[in-house]
Amino acid sequence: MSKVQNLTELLKHAAKNRYAVGSFSARYTKLIQPIIEAAINTHSPVIVQLSEKEVIRHQVGIREFADEFYHVVKTLNPEVPLALHLDHTKSLEVIKEAMDAGFTSVMIDASEASFDENVEITKKIVEMAHSRGITVEAELGKIGTTDFVETDIDEELYTIPEEAQKFCELTDVDCLAVSVGTAHGVYTVRQPKVDFGRLEAINHLTNTPLVLHGGSGVPSEMVVRAAQIPEGGVSKVNIATDLELEMLAVVGRKGHLTEEEFNGYSPELIEKSRKAVKKLVELKIADYLLSDHQA
Ligand SMILES: [Zn+2]
Repeated sequence: MSKVQNLTELLKHAAKNRYAVGSFSARYTKLIQPIIEAAINTHSPVIVQLSEKEVIRHQVGIREFADEFYHVVKTLNPEVPLALHLDHTKSLEVIKEAMDAGFTSVMIDASEASFDENVEITKKIVEMAHSRGITVEAELGKIGTTDFVETDIDEELYTIPEEAQKFCELTDVDCLAVSVGTAHGVYTVRQPKVDFGRLEAINHLTNTPLVLHGGSGVPSEMVVRAAQIPEGGVSKVNIATDLELEMLAVVGRKGHLTEEEFNGYSPELIEKSRKAVKKLVELKIADYLLSDHQA
């Protein structure tokens, strides 16, 4: 279990070596294993994540998710660094539950609040988490959405570099999700873009590792360029939608399944889904994040 850790060293190594660590949303407990297998096969660090909205939508328990993560770790005994991260969460109760369940990192998303309120809320979570060796991600600015899966609002507000500097100094947050043009969900009408100048400006003013959300469907050259910016660029990239789409294609469904529905499929279909997800994660690691052979 020694390789399970919080995000501090993971992101420091990524920033220094100009790659990004993938934070993959398993969404279903049975899809945790292929993410970790992909990391082992590619000798890459990896983050497995679950968000507050996924808990509700897929009816997957935080405790069950963490238990499966640690079960897989125990079984596969990976040599690569791993983290278990709670993605977008607003509720203090959910954050506490995840901390108690063994999550090594949590995200407090108070991006809808005012700057001062966001600072206050984030500070509170940071104090709570750091006393337990858990890292915290916060969001500043608003990341848009195309499908309302991860957030309720499609309001986009780019992160202001000077505000990011102030925010990081005031909160002592471990990493910061920035809004620089990507969106959650599948890109259909709008096209993915990354404001590289803004990223560079934020990097220049902060020492905090930056996180790119909405990584699904963003062309690999954009992500690679964002990760390779000197001074750190983005050190963590969240990839959520793409994994579930792979699984849905295998089982021949659209929309979202619940944990119970997915578990109801035959062992053969579940195995086939796992293989598809593993292959996708391996591809993302090698072509997109450049985190292969960095473990
Ligand atoms: Zn996100």
